[in-house]
This record gives sequence, C-alpha cells and structure tokens, in this order.
Amino acid sequence: MIYKRSSALFSEAEKVIPGGVNSPVRAFKGVGGTPIFVKEAKGAYLFDEDGNRLIDYINSWGPMILGHAHKPVVDAVVEKAQKGTSFGMPTEIETKIAELAVSMVPNIDKIRFVNSGTEACMSAVRLARGFTGKDKIIKFAGCYHGHSDSFLIQAGSGASTFGTPNSPGVTQGTAKDTLLANYNDIDNVKAIIEANKDEIACIIIEPVAGNMGCIPPKDGFLQALRTVCDANNILLIFDEVMTGFRLAKGGAQELFGIKADIVCFGKVIGGGLPVGAFAARNEIMDYLAPVGPVYQAGTLSGNPLAMAAGLAMLNELNTKSHIFDSINEKTEYLHKGIAKVLSDNNIVHTINRVGSMISVHFDEGEVYDFTTAAKGNNDTFKNFFHGLLNEGVYIAPSAFETWFITEALTYQDLDFTINAINKVAKTL
Ligand SMILES: *Cc1c(COP(=O)(O)O)cnc(C)c1O
Repeated sequence: MIYKRSSALFSEAEKVIPGGVNSPVRAFKGVGGTPIFVKEAKGAYLFDEDGNRLIDYINSWGPMILGHAHKPVVDAVVEKAQKGTSFGMPTEIETKIAELAVSMVPNIDKIRFVNSGTEACMSAVRLARGFTGKDKIIKFAGCYHGHSDSFLIQAGSGASTFGTPNSPGVTQGTAKDTLLANYNDIDNVKAIIEANKDEIACIIIEPVAGNMGCIPPKDGFLQALRTVCDANNILLIFDEVMTGFRLAKGGAQELFGIKADIVCFGKVIGGGLPVGAFAARNEIMDYLAPVGPVYQAGTLSGNPLAMAAGLAMLNELNTKSHIFDSINEKTEYLHKGIAKVLSDNNIVHTINRVGSMISVHFDEGEVYDFTTAAKGNNDTFKNFFHGLLNEGVYIAPSAFETWFITEALTYQDLDFTINAINKVAKTL
C-alpha cells in the first residue's frame, strides 16, 4: 500500500502539533512508521487520504460499536446541529439520555455527563474522596483511567508503549496517594489495605482490563474486591469506559453480577462524540454540587450534539439487544480463526477474550496482569501490525491494546482478516 499523502500530511502536522497527533498512541511510536490520515469511514471500513480501504479494528478506540457513520447517530447529530450547538443551560435531551442510561445499567440512580473518560474517572475519585473523607486510592498496574495526575502511575497502553509509566509533571504529593496493586491479586490488595488502614477512599478498576491487552478478572476476584471494600468502608469504582454498553447493556456489573459503588463511562456512551459520565446510587451522587459539597462542572458538559449522538447510540443498543450476542459471536469466530492460523504457522501466542474484547499476545504463558502482559514479543507484534496493515487490516498500533470489534463487520470481513493473518503469520 502507498501512504504518500498520509506521510506528507504527517510532516505538516508535526510542525504545529506536538508529535503530529492530539493523542500519543496515534503516533505509531510503538510500531514504527508514520500514522495514517483518515479521510472518511463507513461501517467497518476506513478510507485513508491515499485512497486505501482498511478494515477497522480500532473503531475510534471503542465508540463505533455499530460501525462508522451509523445512520441513526448521524441523523440525530445533524438534526440537533441546526438548532444550536451549545447553550450552557439545561436541555430536555440530557434528562432523556440520563433516564435511558439509568434504566440500562444496574445499581445506579443518577448520572452526570462530562466530556471524556478522563474527566469521568477524575471526578469519580474526587467524589469518592469527598464521600468517604479519605485521601488514598488503589489502582492496578496496567489499568488506564485517563490522563489525570492521580492515574499516571503505571497506566497501561499509551504510557507503557512509551516506557514512561510515571509522567514528569505529576507531583510527588499526588503520586503518594495512589497505591498500586497487581491485577488479579487479591492478597496484594488486602496487604495494601492493611498497611493503610482507614486511609483508602476507593479502589478503581477496569472490571475487564483493556489497556494492557484484554485481561479478564479471575474467577472470584471482583467479588473479593467487593467484600474487602465493604469490610473497610472503601468505595469500589468500576471504570467501564471500555466495557460499558459493550459487554452487556449493563456492562461488566451485569455480566459478572457484581455491584460497583461508582461507575465511569466514556467511548460507546457518546456514539463517537466527546462524552463521558459517572454514576452511582442517590446517596453518593447527591454529594455532588450543586446539591452536595463536592465540586464538579463543565461548560460543554451535556452538550446537545454529544447528547444526541449518545442517546441515539444507547437507543440502538437498548432496542436491538441481540447486538450484544451478535458481536460476541463475531468476536468468538475471529478468536477461533486467529488461534487456528497462528497455531498452524507455529507462532507462539496467547489470545485473551471477554465478549467483544480480544487481544493477541505473542507469548505462550497465561496473561493475567501487567507483568505477564509485558512479556509479549514486541518485535513480532510490530511485524504483525505492519503485515496486517499492508493487507488492509488496521489494528491498534500498540501491543497493549484490545481490539475493538464492531457489529458492522461481516463474516466475509472476518474471513478476509483471518486469511490476512495467515499470510502475515508465514512471514513472522
Ligand atoms: C479510554 C479510557 C479512558 C479515558 O477516556 P478518554 O475519553 O480517552 O479520556 C479511561 N478509562 C478506560 C478504561 C479507558 O479505556
């Protein structure tokens, strides 16, 4: 494939945007080469500036679960845009999407909308601290909760790709309140709680980790977290920015039958516009301004275009709930196909999958935490990535990313992808 125009556009971009991108992982640092510039997208396909067609396994990092330029979402946005794009005053559509989200997700009474997953997680932690009157938080190595200061401590994908898990600019004072635990290691969590008795406000976790590849929670792990939180007056925050409205209507809480105290959303909930949200039961949410003492705000929060896109997306998922089974089946088909061709070609690998979240690790051991995820062979991944790109299949340019499957993929697309992987595997 030829990337002449993309390369030229990237050179121009680098002059006026740091690294030529507005979010680091887009820059291909982990795999080498220059990023591809998108011209447009439809359904499961991207069309780049050089006229190449790519089957898209990133889907804007999750939001396009029903494919690009999905008609009900586009129509809703276009219609809204003609009536004014922002007011900074309440609108009815905010209540509509809040009612729908609260009806789809278990254990939440109220929800507040923000503009990104980062904002959702940052605000959820502030709320947990305000509500419990405690300062420290536990996060897991390799989990990503956005780029706010408290979370930039071994933060998975973007940060891991660049080998800078701790960012300059995050103060020692902030870092000391973030305690790091190992994913899937309940004894480690208990030891940290024991060593910081009565100081921990919350545990925040990706209930299925998606930012160090896909890592499922071990049997009983989430339940054990719930129990230990209850015993120590600690709030359990599920960061469902990736899993929410993807693993089930009610996300990971529904899939695993575990109740979180605060739930964070992003990605799918905005239908491709910048939306995040956090939600909890009344007792906790009423701690937020203007009712309660914990401050949180946003000029563009609940923006009408964003709410129109999000509402159209949630409506689709709510009324056509067979989508969740369908997308899981497609991902399972892909899983089996990839496993077969990699095995046939004697490529050492482990594939992790939960529903429509899947990742391929080039290592043979079980991948269950950050350490085991980091063991994968990155050189093999780079060749795999560029080989697939050359075949017209676009996966995330980092070995630490989950593939984001879209319902717009046909079985023909999946067969095409498996064939492409077979070809590439012969070159690894
Ligand atoms: C993407 C992601 C975030 C951050 O969301 P942004 O919208 O990029 O700020 C937070 N948590 C998880 C689990 C994510 O996957």
